[in-house]
Amino acid sequence: MRAMTYRGPYRVRVVDKPLPAIEHPRDAIVRVTRACICGSDLHLYHGLVPDTRVGQTFGHEFVGIVEEVGAQVRELRPGDRVLVPFNIACGECYFCRKGLHANCHNANPNATALGAAFGYSHTAGGYDGGQAEYVRVPYADVGPTKIPSSLDDDNALMCTDAYPTGYQAAEMAGIRRGDSVVVFGAGPIGLFAARCAWFMGAGRVLVVDEYDYRLEFARRFAQCETLNFRDVSDPVWLLKKESDWLGWDAAIDAAGCEARGSAMQRLLGVRLKLLSGAATPLHWAIDAVRKGGVVSIVGVYGPTLNAIPIGTAMNKGVTLRMGQASVKRNLSRCIEHIEAGHIDPKEIITHRIPLEDIGDGYHLFSSKLDGCIKPIIQPDGARA
Ligand code: NAD
Ligand code: ZN
Repeated sequence: MRAMTYRGPYRVRVVDKPLPAIEHPRDAIVRVTRACICGSDLHLYHGLVPDTRVGQTFGHEFVGIVEEVGAQVRELRPGDRVLVPFNIACGECYFCRKGLHANCHNANPNATALGAAFGYSHTAGGYDGGQAEYVRVPYADVGPTKIPSSLDDDNALMCTDAYPTGYQAAEMAGIRRGDSVVVFGAGPIGLFAARCAWFMGAGRVLVVDEYDYRLEFARRFAQCETLNFRDVSDPVWLLKKESDWLGWDAAIDAAGCEARGSAMQRLLGVRLKLLSGAATPLHWAIDAVRKGGVVSIVGVYGPTLNAIPIGTAMNKGVTLRMGQASVKRNLSRCIEHIEAGHIDPKEIITHRIPLEDIGDGYHLFSSKLDGCIKPIIQPDGARA
């Protein structure tokens, strides 16, 4: 089969790989019809995720058709159209039973803090991902979900990560009716978080980024206010001014470890790798929320230390909530909002790229070129 493979930082290539096979009776093999590149893949692409091995196939957002199932798979049959959440989870451990599929204790032999994900380095289990024609899906009765007829493939694809992650970001922000919410990052995750903040009763939503095209899209897609942090010398000062100097009820970090906006954070966290990434939006979020406010973190950070103002958070009495999304937990809620016509997630898709040209997709998305918000990948055989 044809599959994207990692060759080293900023280098990906499509190569022939052996077809994946059932390795365990709970596995399924899925023929991929659509996959995405995610902001999280960019951390891999930029060489920032520990133990990202040459030859791995990335891709944790994909939908497809079940090709084959193992002897113990009960819920799926060959021919089923499925959306596959990015988490690989056993469904039975202490954490899965609490709905923390992102922290499954069994699926990732290489780490205890983190569960497993498709195509996300050996730190996240070493499983090959879905930027390929076929993929092996472990615990096939736990994550994969038959796509209801109300969902087209594009919307189903958005339900594998970006939309439920944005939803969970808003949920973790503890929004109450009328609350003000500031979202850092106008990528797919921030856009969905901003949109979902309204579902939860927000009274005011503002999105911060440095790309005007993304902020313009945010105004349309999430009917929110926007701020380009490059337009002001101190974004936190402006955010405080905008909130009668009290601060925002909730702040969401949907940018993560490669954030811009502080030369010092970039130097220490991205260039020299002395910290695990640049935590600038997290810094801003802690400063911009009111005393007793909530900071919700879905932007990804690595395992080592970060320069964040924990003392400010402590003294302000800020609640910090965070995590990799556990997609399955909110999936039916997310689908209900689509069915009710509250959201059409596929609106954020800006590019459709053949698998063979996936290198261009990574470059476009990484460099924020050509108005790129969300690129999706289609294997050749699936493009008709
Ligand atoms: P993206 O790269 O498209 O978007 C990130 C946006 O943040 C960019 O538009 C960038 O300009 C903006 N940004 C950079 N610095 C900023 C700052 N200081 N303030 C405000 N905005 C800033 O990526 P995405 O797909 O939207 O993903 C965003 C983050 O969410 C990534 O870190 C990704 O790894 C993470 N993520 C987490 C989960 C999860 O389960 N928790 C799931 C998917 C993605
Ligand atoms: Zn993702």
